[in-house]
Amino acid sequence: MTDFPHHAFREYDIRGIAATDITEALAYRLGQAFATMLPANESRPVIVGRDVRLSGPGLQTALIRGLNDAGLHVMDIGIVPTPLAYYAVHQLSAAGSVHVTASHNPSEYNGFKMMIGTSSLHGHDIQRLKELMQQDLRTDKATGSCTPFSITDSYTQFVVNDCPLSRPFKVVIDAGNGPSGMIAAPLYRQLGCEVIELYCEPDGRFPNHHPDPTIAENMVDLANTVRAHKADLGIAFDGDGDRIGIVDEHGTIIWSDMLLLLLSRRLLLEYPGATIISEIKSSQMLYNAIEQAGGKAVMWRTGHSLIKAKMKETGALLAGEMSGHLFFADRFFGFDDAAYAGARIMQMLADTGSTFSELLADVPITVATPEIRIACSDQEKFDVVDQAIIHFKSLGYDIIDIDGMRIRFADGWGLLRASNTQPALVMRFEAPDNKRLDEMRALIESWLDTQ
Ligand SMILES: [Zn+2]
Repeated sequence: MTDFPHHAFREYDIRGIAATDITEALAYRLGQAFATMLPANESRPVIVGRDVRLSGPGLQTALIRGLNDAGLHVMDIGIVPTPLAYYAVHQLSAAGSVHVTASHNPSEYNGFKMMIGTSSLHGHDIQRLKELMQQDLRTDKATGSCTPFSITDSYTQFVVNDCPLSRPFKVVIDAGNGPSGMIAAPLYRQLGCEVIELYCEPDGRFPNHHPDPTIAENMVDLANTVRAHKADLGIAFDGDGDRIGIVDEHGTIIWSDMLLLLLSRRLLLEYPGATIISEIKSSQMLYNAIEQAGGKAVMWRTGHSLIKAKMKETGALLAGEMSGHLFFADRFFGFDDAAYAGARIMQMLADTGSTFSELLADVPITVATPEIRIACSDQEKFDVVDQAIIHFKSLGYDIIDIDGMRIRFADGWGLLRASNTQPALVMRFEAPDNKRLDEMRALIESWLDTQ
């Protein structure tokens, strides 16, 4: 295959520009290669769905044809958030899933997120898939079939049963014109909430803002609407509904590590000593709070697939990333689902009878930088981080090196890691005040200047 889009095969998914990188021919090959990755005697169906992008229908059709031509049966769950594909795999005991989505990327992108069994495909498996897609995989198997299947009612009923609210909320939801509005608005109404909808009409052009709740400017409309309607909270979803953003009743963003802190305290009342996982970028206050509440805090590598794998390995009941992926495994399946996370967050607020600011009042106030990105080529970025680890270890610094370099100071930390998704280095710092923050930042930046 000429012009194979090697760069579209990333750590956790396949993503690129539709029509040039992510073509229908590529989708067809993916269907065939995915079938080859399954056990030889696999007879269960594969779940296929998509987000709202305009390139989705053509890619989905080609993908299904590839799967069918390899002898597999497909259940087409249509336009839904990615977590509903995960839910379908669990509930229908499917062979796996391929979801056509580019998450929060601009509208001209598309891609694929995949599961084999109940495990997200990532790392080496995605590279293996890439190799298979460059081979000729014609099989002599009988053609499979494709059955349309709606998973929405089953999902909604599951969450309504799982998350009854002891008091109703007035909630604003911003789906960024992705697929989550269609699921979350009726779901939260069934939970008794008054729901005010913002950008809940699916529109693959994303005309209002990028569906990425980790960017503060994408949360401005949500915050304003919460204030205007005197709502209890606002919930935003990313473009495929696996990441959540929250604003409180004042329209203030509550970042994911603080959400995880609150959810952890709640969980540990029911499951003393439970293991809870977060990533290398999260606040030290989160890890301290989990330990203080009697939990076992695990710091792990960034990436939703890696976190899910670590949850299975450790038996963790809860996990979360700064990017808004929250994973519940106590009453749920352990995958990242923003609509479900929103219900759990409202249930926590209802059960405690408190506001976010009341619940966070005892958490020490620190200053932290957002993620600072420094352009660095894909060829160089990992080397730079390796050199940094050698250098700062030799100077006697306390270093966590599971994913980049997190230097632990007595009163804070500084992180330098290579981005898995961009040609960039990423830094983040947390300190008791701005003066110390600047000192920590200067330490790493002055070394970077010498490189
Ligand atoms: Zn996403």
